[in-house]
Amino acid sequence: MKRLRQGLSKTRSNLSGLFGGGAKIDDVLYEELETALLVSDAGVETTQWLLDSLRTRVRQQRLTEASQVRDALRALLVELLKPLEQPVDIDRATPLVVMIAGVNGAGKTTSIGKLAHHLQREGKSILLAAGDTFRAAAREQLAEWGARNNVQVIAQEGGDPAAVAFDAVSAGRARGVGVVMVDTAGRLPTQTHLMDELKKIRRVIAKSMPDAPHESLLVLDGNTGQNMLAQVRAFDEAVGLTGLIVTKLDGTAKGGALAALAHTRRDRPIPVYFIGVGEGLDDLQAFSAEEFASALVD
Ligand code: GDP
Repeated sequence: MKRLRQGLSKTRSNLSGLFGGGAKIDDVLYEELETALLVSDAGVETTQWLLDSLRTRVRQQRLTEASQVRDALRALLVELLKPLEQPVDIDRATPLVVMIAGVNGAGKTTSIGKLAHHLQREGKSILLAAGDTFRAAAREQLAEWGARNNVQVIAQEGGDPAAVAFDAVSAGRARGVGVVMVDTAGRLPTQTHLMDELKKIRRVIAKSMPDAPHESLLVLDGNTGQNMLAQVRAFDEAVGLTGLIVTKLDGTAKGGALAALAHTRRDRPIPVYFIGVGEGLDDLQAFSAEEFASALVD
């Protein structure tokens, strides 16, 4: 909670200052709020929607103090973000197979390490698959996280990432492992051949275990801002996302992008299972709409 508050201080500083003592509820306040939301990367559409909804509430509830407008904005953000707040059901399959994708540097490998640690504390045994068969550094990094968590990592130099995933899921089934996490190489949505590779990994995993992968997660760098929306759309079209992990929320000015994510996908929200708030093993938290909204405006 504290890390998130600290981390979002850059996003918050533009917003929370607007409602200080003596601030009037007038067009200037709304204009400044509009600027602050746009700067936080909430995007034009979501910013407009938030402002319109806020104006309506202020009128209906006859609010007269700037602090009440802050409360109304916080409540609005909580309602907007609430559908993103969902826990992962880790008991629904054994093993639960989790495929993890994202662009390079988003924080996939780090998040897998943190997640392994988190799930172990929930009593789950873990197996990791190093699905990036081309970058030796990626395999080594995953191996390091595995060693830190005392977890076995299935890896292969070169070769087909889908085969590594297949082997890991098969081994996980044979050994009665709780969760198999499949790391994948970083890829951009525009790299068609790599997006096809991801689809293949998904297909081949299903050959090893019907219904798997049970979770297809996209890891997003919290500094990505509005570009998150395009990434989510592209990866969702390719592999059908079931959840998101948003990293690096310990230092971003673009926290408003999560509001945009919630707003633009309100018909089919993809839950933010976890957020990353640092580089350490414990720096992974479940996403909470209340905490996030409060870290933005208070
Ligand atoms: P990958 O290429 O997607 O596997 O990304 P990595 O897991 O290698 O992470 C890229 C960089 O981001 C590393 O330096 C990580 O330590 C850092 N990182 C990952 N998650 C977080 C986070 O939540 N907060 C911060 N501050 N850094 C993070």
